[in-house]
Amino acid sequence: MLGPPGAGKGTQAVRLAEQFSCADIATGDIFRANVAEGTELGRIAQEYMDRGDLVPDEVVIAMVMERLAEPDCTAGFILDGFPRTVAQAEALDHRLVELGTPLHAALNFEITEDELLRRLAGRAAELHRSDDSEQTIRHRLEVFAIKTRPLIDHYARRGQLVNVDAIGPVEVVTKRILDDLQDLTRSGE
Ligand code: AMP
Repeated sequence: MLGPPGAGKGTQAVRLAEQFSCADIATGDIFRANVAEGTELGRIAQEYMDRGDLVPDEVVIAMVMERLAEPDCTAGFILDGFPRTVAQAEALDHRLVELGTPLHAALNFEITEDELLRRLAGRAAELHRSDDSEQTIRHRLEVFAIKTRPLIDHYARRGQLVNVDAIGPVEVVTKRILDDLQDLTRSGE
């Protein structure tokens, strides 16, 4: 799943993982759990997260590759918040070739900046996420534009990109995604 912070990736990932009975791997959630548990990984990640910066590629890639080796991933998986850089996407491509499981789709959540800022301000108030302050949000959006947006081309070139209109009620967005995935499967048959 690709898309700026606040686009609704996490919400949709949970719903899709349920629908497809597969693993939901949310890198931000894994980092937050590690921060809460006070692990070494959490200690490394926290300073980057608090600034709204990306955790270094080698740290994230090692963590995700380890997670993908767990048994619940054999039935498939949804990646929420990974890859976020070209290096991460290349590491994932490489691993998927090794596993012999091609990527089904890269869902690109499309949303306007006004709607994003509105949602993120609401989330900051509700969840008290330390990285949802207005200044950090702006920085995270810049980081997304510079580091993550190039991945849209990366997947478009491979014919794996599915653009999702991410504005609307949660269940409407889920329906759009499921319909698009079905179209993709049909066109690949
Ligand atoms: P998220 O909950 O996906 O918005 O992630 C929260 C924070 O965790 C991000 O702002 C980054 O600091 C870090 N993070 C999560 N996923 C990644 C990733 N794939 N690469 C680098 N940093 C990440």
